[in-house]
Amino acid sequence: MLGEGIIKGMAETARNFLGSYVSDERLTTVQYPEERLPMPENARQFPFLVFDGNDPMAGLRCVGCQICEKECPPKCIYIVKSKDKRLDYKRQMQLYPATFDIDLSVCMSCQICVEVCPFEAIKMDTEFELSTTDRFGGLMVNKQQLAKPNEHYRKIHPTDAAVSDAALAVEVAKAQAKAKADAEAKAKAAVIATPVVTQPVAAT
Ligand code: SF4
Ligand code: SF4
Repeated sequence: MLGEGIIKGMAETARNFLGSYVSDERLTTVQYPEERLPMPENARQFPFLVFDGNDPMAGLRCVGCQICEKECPPKCIYIVKSKDKRLDYKRQMQLYPATFDIDLSVCMSCQICVEVCPFEAIKMDTEFELSTTDRFGGLMVNKQQLAKPNEHYRKIHPTDAAVSDAALAVEVAKAQAKAKADAEAKAKAAVIATPVVTQPVAAT
């Protein structure tokens, strides 16, 4: 029937309008910013860098591999690798990002950087109140501003964070097993290489 969709839409609007006087479920708006709707677990806005421990810069998981920089469609990630190395979460020597900037005015929240990162180092935040009058510099954020603890990730995306924690635990266990095997092999090789010293037999 011609106009059937319009009539159905108007009926739904009328049902919500009249129903909102008697039922909270029919209220489709809230008095933002005084009231806020709970954020769904899969909400995503802009990326942040995950760190472990208490020191945001020392605990960054990012190793500056630049995969996310290469894969970011609008090219809004800028990374400079460190010249030196430091211990990572697996107690292995790794590079780290000397510079890690994201231009949030360009980021389109696609999450590709998260998908391609092999180190569980970059995740999507739910923070969206970032408006600023400084259109360019105000939305260019550096690694200090991007760094957030793993507890933050667990809080905003508990299901994904549990999967991430489990994957990292497997990696750490593998690294520890390898380090132990290497140490044992080294000790064994040292024993074999040690010359056997015999006492001279005294003349009778
Ligand atoms: S966030 Fe991940 S993909 Fe990007 S540079 Fe760091 S480790 Fe590499
Ligand atoms: S979410 Fe997409 S656009 Fe934004 S930094 Fe990551 S890859 Fe780039």
